[in-house]
Amino acid sequence: MLKTMTTTNANKLRAKKLLAIYAAVIGAASLVIWLTLTSGQTVVTQTKKLTDYRIPELREISMLQIAMSDRAIQLYFYYATFNTQEWEEQDALLTQRVTSHLEALKKLRLVDIESKKLLTLIATFSQSATLFNQEMLKLDTRDWDMLRAHLSTAKMALNEITSLLNDWSEKINNTAQESGLTALDQVNQLTKLQLGFSITVMLISAFVLIALYARLKDQDDLYRLAYFDELTNLPNRQRLEDDLEGLLATNPNTKGALFIVQIERIKIIASTYGHAIADQLIIQIARRIANKQVTANAQIYRINTDSFAIIYQQSCELLTALNTAKNLSSIMESSITLGTRSLSVKLSIGIALFANQQDTAARIMRNAVAALSIRKQSGNIHLFEPRMTEESEAWLSTENALRAALEHSEFELHYQPKVCAKTQTTMSSEALIRWRRDGNLISPAQFIPVAEESGLIVPIGHWVLLEACRQWQVWRSKGLLQLPIAVNISAQQFQDPAFLAQVENALKQHEVPPAMIELEITEAVAANDPESAVAMMMKLKNLGVTLAIDDFGTGYSSLSYLKRFPIDTLKIDIAFVRNINTSAHDQAIATMILALGKQLNLKVVAEGVETQDQQFLLAALGCDILQGYLFSKPIPAAQFAERINTI
Ligand code: C2E
Ligand code: CA
Ligand code: CA
Repeated sequence: MLKTMTTTNANKLRAKKLLAIYAAVIGAASLVIWLTLTSGQTVVTQTKKLTDYRIPELREISMLQIAMSDRAIQLYFYYATFNTQEWEEQDALLTQRVTSHLEALKKLRLVDIESKKLLTLIATFSQSATLFNQEMLKLDTRDWDMLRAHLSTAKMALNEITSLLNDWSEKINNTAQESGLTALDQVNQLTKLQLGFSITVMLISAFVLIALYARLKDQDDLYRLAYFDELTNLPNRQRLEDDLEGLLATNPNTKGALFIVQIERIKIIASTYGHAIADQLIIQIARRIANKQVTANAQIYRINTDSFAIIYQQSCELLTALNTAKNLSSIMESSITLGTRSLSVKLSIGIALFANQQDTAARIMRNAVAALSIRKQSGNIHLFEPRMTEESEAWLSTENALRAALEHSEFELHYQPKVCAKTQTTMSSEALIRWRRDGNLISPAQFIPVAEESGLIVPIGHWVLLEACRQWQVWRSKGLLQLPIAVNISAQQFQDPAFLAQVENALKQHEVPPAMIELEITEAVAANDPESAVAMMMKLKNLGVTLAIDDFGTGYSSLSYLKRFPIDTLKIDIAFVRNINTSAHDQAIATMILALGKQLNLKVVAEGVETQDQQFLLAALGCDILQGYLFSKPIPAAQFAERINTI
């Protein structure tokens, strides 16, 4: 569907975007590492340059040393040759050399204090040389000791100058080396730091990747949780709404049909066999629906515990839709085998067609649900008709009101006598529920189907059981004739695991002899699983209560099972009694039921007897007990008590 695709695409896009961000982070980290290594290289080169940069200084120092040594040599040479003129020329040249190297060193910015000491030493040397020259110029009066003293002072100055300049060179060398080393050290430190940084960045990006992945997965999980049914993996109700909305938004003229497919009695199956079996069953049904050719081009959803939805985009023709529905319901023709159990399940289908611009997703869904809950048409396929909306709203409000009625004790039981066909004396009664709602008495025909549908029938039925027992005890304590009361039991109630204990407790609580309570059940209790139904009937019989099959002849239980039912009574349905005098067919059925009863040693009750003709005919056919308006309508407990008393 359109929306599905957009959502999936959006998800993919988001994943791509996040991965792109991640790739960018990794790229940035790699770049930092590369920069670190190359910049480290640069720093080393720079350090080498720094060392190289100090070479002129060293050279000047050496040149100065050499110049000073030359001056000393020149001085000794003079002492040896007495050649004043040559010495003066040479010394002037050498002094100039010294001066120029000193100038050069000054330009190279040598430390001031040290250069002062050097200048003093050079001055000392020059002074000694000058004094030496003056002494030499005295010719015959030369003081040789004095001359040697000047030479020695000059020599000492030279030595000091040499050692001073050596120190300088060494210092320069050291600092150059040191600075080179520190720089190298710093580079190392820097490299380490940046390597650490890069590793951190890499680690962070790895975590980011994991986090992103987890987030994407989370998003995916959340998406699945929000839009898919866990059990069947089918898209859920939310997605149905979204898809339907998307469909109508893209093309308001879209024509199609929405089917709601409901699994009948899944709640009963769940409470009888457990939820695991019910789940398995739902999965099997989902598979059958998905495999069916008729859903090939349609989208299937699971929208509820017991229902699926299908959108057909092509078919909005009434006949096409009905045919499709018929095909679809045929998937349940064969029963479903789960382990050793074989379960036959029916599907009910509600259909809402849409071809109208005014249709909204919500309205289409409501219509399909309404069609299903009203069940106007017989069979299992129900097509929405416009007036159903009101009825379905009424239905829903009934359900809510029923809950409140249960809480506020708005129910009461009326009792209809069952009389002896021959003597017309009251033999027993049937308890029939009534709902006193805002002063009006509402018939069970109006609310029992809603109670069945919503599951409320189980607590309501429990109340009926307790109330009937309570009433029996009240009548007994008033000394009334002790007559059995028949209580209607719905299939859901019968299949409820708590039912047996509820019957037992009701009897005990009100001290009612079990034989005084008859349970009227229909053939529907055995529809899913006759074996379990028979087992349950046995347990009830063991309690001592009696069992009647209500509405007999309208269901489809096989006679072979009927033979195995541990029952006491058959009730001929009102449908066969109504026209018994005019319809040979109905009379034949009544006759057959009576024969069957005799054969199986069962009591037979005819219900809905309204006329004397019916009464006489049924009596003539051998019917023991009659029930109907001819004798009495269902009446309140007090009225029933009066009736018994007057007999
Ligand atoms: P049902 O068990 O077949 O009850 C017989 C229905 O036929 C009763 O309708 C009764 O009033 C009606 N009836 C009796 N005699 C005549 C007659 O001569 N003519 C006509 N036309 N009708 C007659 P009611 O009381 O409206 O109950 C309708 C159905 O509601 C019952 O059919 C039963 O299936 C269900 N129901 C009533 N009370 C309970 C209850 O306590 N629990 C459950 N589960 N179902 C109940
Ligand atoms: Ca009944
Ligand atoms: Ca009936």
